[in-house]
Amino acid sequence: NTCIWGGATGQDRSLIMLRKFLLATFYCSLLQQCVTFQFSSHKASHLKNIFSSRICRRTQHPAVSRIVLAAASDTELKNGIANFYDQSSPLWEEVWGEHMHMGHYGQKGDEKKSDVQAQIDMVDRLLDWGQVSAPTHVLDVGCGVGGSSRHIARRYGCKVTGITLSPLQCEHAKERSRLAGLADQTQFMVADALKLPFEDESFDLIWSMESGEHMPGKKEWLEECKRVLKPGGRFLMATWTHRDTEMLSCGHLSNENLDAKEKRLLSKISKYYYLPEWVSCSDYKMIAQELSFTDIRTDDWTDAVRPFWPAVWRSALSWQGFKGLIKTLRKGIETLRGARAVLLMIRGFNKGLIRLGLLTAVKQ
Ligand code: SAH
Repeated sequence: NTCIWGGATGQDRSLIMLRKFLLATFYCSLLQQCVTFQFSSHKASHLKNIFSSRICRRTQHPAVSRIVLAAASDTELKNGIANFYDQSSPLWEEVWGEHMHMGHYGQKGDEKKSDVQAQIDMVDRLLDWGQVSAPTHVLDVGCGVGGSSRHIARRYGCKVTGITLSPLQCEHAKERSRLAGLADQTQFMVADALKLPFEDESFDLIWSMESGEHMPGKKEWLEECKRVLKPGGRFLMATWTHRDTEMLSCGHLSNENLDAKEKRLLSKISKYYYLPEWVSCSDYKMIAQELSFTDIRTDDWTDAVRPFWPAVWRSALSWQGFKGLIKTLRKGIETLRGARAVLLMIRGFNKGLIRLGLLTAVKQ
């Protein structure tokens, strides 16, 4: 029931892209068919998110909401992510340190502790929840500057390999490991999680702390992770997800069931943080089942991390944050966009739309 109809590329100007898109949706409602419209740039996919929900409302045509994003330009996305972390990591490290993820403030989010301690607790709570016992070689997918990698290396005395798309993060991660006396136990490289440069069955634990949201194809990504896991090895992640929605028929992600306002909010956040596709925790569970993982468990730790984004907002207003902002003032617009993105994240959490989802699963 799908009518394939052209697309838009990164070279198209916004207006041309919009015209093509409007024509596609017009045919879509005329033919009462689901249209596949390819957007081959991050910018274009953002447009799609905005307009598909508006047009859908106007035409009341459910098929229009089924316009799917064919992520043709992986390179553009990867460069965007690498650049984003190259630019933003130094300021984050100065204010927050080595952990670039949310903190755990107790299951109800009401424990009083420092934000950095909450981040460390998050790593420990997730390892406990994942029932990780004695890994020997761990892959940290989307390692940032290696905060989790070093923590895991210390806790289990194991070897950890971390990968990131950002060359700057990779360099900082190596330097931090050297200073911590963990250079022998940890190694870092610039590599793509969707094309892991490792042999089959290399690791007994794959750890992913808040990197899944950047992956363009969740199923392809989990499949690639499964390939490099040893039999009996565990996949363990915490990631940004959207709230659960009514499940859709096979092949469709549940984000199609979010309402127009929710889609618009996620779309704005995606554009800033380079997030190609939002899914729910249930979607992840379904994907893990499809890939024949076993011992699949999911959980929702939204309440536990609730104080985090307001803390990020406060840190931007603190003296240290202020100094950082001054340093980056020449990139004034970028800085303002970052502040707006933090507020959007807070709104997403408050609305119950954005969740912190957990998944663990074992390769048979
Ligand atoms: N896990 C780290 C950093 C989280 S930030 C921490 O908790 O401190 C997200 C990380 O995911 C960044 O390091 C980014 O480079 C990485 N990332 C995003 N997409 C990736 C991809 N396709 N391949 C490898 N790393 C990726």
